[in-house]
Amino acid sequence: MYPDSLKNLIESFKCLPSVGEKTAERFAFSVFDLDDEQVELFKISLDDVRTKVHPCSVCNLLTEDDVCSICSDDKRNNKILCVVEDVKSVFLFEKIGMFKGKYHVLNGLISPLDGINPEDIGIDKLLDRIQNEKYDEIIFAFKPSIEGETTSLYIKKILDGLNIKVTKLANGVPIGADMEYIDSLTLERALNDRKDVS
Ligand SMILES: [Zn+2]
Repeated sequence: MYPDSLKNLIESFKCLPSVGEKTAERFAFSVFDLDDEQVELFKISLDDVRTKVHPCSVCNLLTEDDVCSICSDDKRNNKILCVVEDVKSVFLFEKIGMFKGKYHVLNGLISPLDGINPEDIGIDKLLDRIQNEKYDEIIFAFKPSIEGETTSLYIKKILDGLNIKVTKLANGVPIGADMEYIDSLTLERALNDRKDVS
């Protein structure tokens, strides 16, 4: 019943997370209400994020440059490194704005049951970085889960003997909760009350 181009647009919206048929239809029809400038920006942005945005060569955070704005910010504390499992976690931390160190983004967490091994999540790049730069403290900020625990312990074991303080976020976040659903107060407390990995 819909013209092909409208049907294609609805199908495209349906590829997005949490967007079902009805929402996709609403999105597609709302495009008729946009002015030319808005539509042009939409088209360009879609294209740009795919062609210009890539992982930072140092920390893996998304950037349009070789090195991201956080890595190249001299005012940040380069003695503390916060290791996270995905880029979304960095944006979450930056939103609460209380962490002033540097980040390193892994490509997920170790999960032997799912066939995800240390080499799959980019641990080599992290270890190279830790060995080349002098950190006083490494903080693991993973979601509280078996995978998060496994990954923390794996890295901690390799760092043993390097004389670096290795900590993780304090409990207080529900087990299995996704980082993005944790409110900023909980995260702030978890960061303040961080404890040694053992
Ligand atoms: Zn970076």
